[in-house]
Amino acid sequence: MKHWKIGVIAALLSGSLYAAPLPVVTSFSILGDVTHQIGGERVSVQNLVGPDQDTHAYHLTSGDIRKIRNAKLVLLNGLGLEGADVQRAVQQSRVPYAEAAAGITALKADDDHDDHDHDDHDHDHDHDHDHDHDHAHGHHHHGEFDPHVWSDPVLMQTYARNVANALIKADPQGKTYYQQRLNNYQDQLKQLHAEAQKSFNAIPQAKRKVLTGHEAFAYMGKRYNIRFIAPQGVSTSDEPSAKEVAAIIRQIKQDGIKAIFTENIKDTRMVERIAKETGVKPSGKLYSDALSKNTQADTYIKMYRHNVRALSNAMK
Ligand SMILES: [Zn+2]
Repeated sequence: MKHWKIGVIAALLSGSLYAAPLPVVTSFSILGDVTHQIGGERVSVQNLVGPDQDTHAYHLTSGDIRKIRNAKLVLLNGLGLEGADVQRAVQQSRVPYAEAAAGITALKADDDHDDHDHDDHDHDHDHDHDHDHDHAHGHHHHGEFDPHVWSDPVLMQTYARNVANALIKADPQGKTYYQQRLNNYQDQLKQLHAEAQKSFNAIPQAKRKVLTGHEAFAYMGKRYNIRFIAPQGVSTSDEPSAKEVAAIIRQIKQDGIKAIFTENIKDTRMVERIAKETGVKPSGKLYSDALSKNTQADTYIKMYRHNVRALSNAMK
C-alpha cells in the first residue's frame, strides 16, 4: 500500500512522464532539432520540411495544414524563409506561433549576387526590424532579408532562447525544465563557436574562399571572415544567367579557389558544371538548409561540425 502511494506521488511530481507531450510543429528540420534539444521529452516535434529537403522549394499540403491545426505551438524561422502559404495557414489556424530569428539583426538578401566585391564586411548591418506579431507580415517581402541565420552559431544562442521562451509560454509548467535545457544547449553552442573559430583562424585570410550552390552561408562568412560565392542567391529558386555563371568561373580561376561544395538539399549539377569548367575537383557536400538522415548530420551541432571540418580541409 505504502509503495503504491509513493508511486503515485512520484508520478505526479515527474509530470512529464504521464502528461502527453506538447505537440509542436516547426517549419524545417534545423529548427525542429533546436526545439527537440530544448523541449526534451515534454514536447513532440513535427517538421513541415524534413531532413535533406529544400525549404525554399516547399509548398504547403493539406496534411501539413492538419498538422498545424493540431499543434499547440508553431515555430517558424522568419525572415522570409517560410512562404506566404505557410504564414497564412499558421495565422488562420489561430495556433500560437513564434519566430526563432526574432531580434536577430538580419543581413539584407543580396539580390545582386554576381557582384562579389564583399569588402563591406565591417559595415553595420543594422536594420530597423520589427517582429511584432500583431502586425501583418507585409513588411517581410520574400527575399528582402537573408533567412539563413543558423549558419552562425553565435546567432543561434538568440534563436535557441526564442524557442525556449515560446515553449515556456505554451507550457508554463515546464519552465524550469526548459530553462535548464536551454542553458545546457547554450553551452554547447558556445563550444561549437569556439571550435569553428579555432579551425578557421588556422587558415590564412587569402584562402578563405568557397563556392557553394546558393547563398546559404553569409552569416557564417561574416562571423569567420570567409568569402562565400554562389551562382544562386538566398533562394534556390533563383536561376543564374549564363553571364553570371561565366563570371563565377572566371573568378574561381583568378582567385585560385579550391573549395567547391555541393549541398544536401539541392540538385548538384550547377556546382559540378562549374567545377568541371574550372578544373577544380569538388570538395564534397555541405549541409546547408536541412539536417540529414545521415547520422553525421542528424542534429544541428553535428551538421555544423561536419561543415566546419569539410570547409577547413578544403580551404587549406
Ligand atoms: Zn537556403
